[in-house]
Amino acid sequence: MAESKEKFPQTPIVLKEPKWNEVWMGALIPEPGNSVLNNTGTWRVFRPIIDQDRCIRCLICWMYCPEPAIKILDKPYKTKQGREYKITLEIDYNYCKGCGICVQECPVKAIEFVEEVK
Ligand code: SF4
Ligand code: SF4
Repeated sequence: MAESKEKFPQTPIVLKEPKWNEVWMGALIPEPGNSVLNNTGTWRVFRPIIDQDRCIRCLICWMYCPEPAIKILDKPYKTKQGREYKITLEIDYNYCKGCGICVQECPVKAIEFVEEVK
């Protein structure tokens, strides 16, 4: 025991405690919209990929996504079957954390979930 104390001498840690008026109120977000600063895409192990031809543009994935990761683009798309849409859905992989909720909720199974390759 004495030996380990010599190897790893204990140094006192001094924490500076904030004063009462320096602490943020609980559950307060001082900078709304600051989640865009967090690149949550680095956590991802699986990557969702939207099949644009199968997607029926119901936006359920967009509603359920917990991140700002599914973008609705003002970009027309014509499927191989000839259906025409005025929008295209795109996943922003900077924010998609690979939770798989969109894959689970898509009613027509238009989102494939593939292993992330770094
Ligand atoms: S996997 Fe999760 S974070 Fe990524 S797009 Fe789907 S719902 Fe959003
Ligand atoms: S839930 Fe599926 S069908 Fe609906 S918009 Fe998303 S990918 Fe397309």
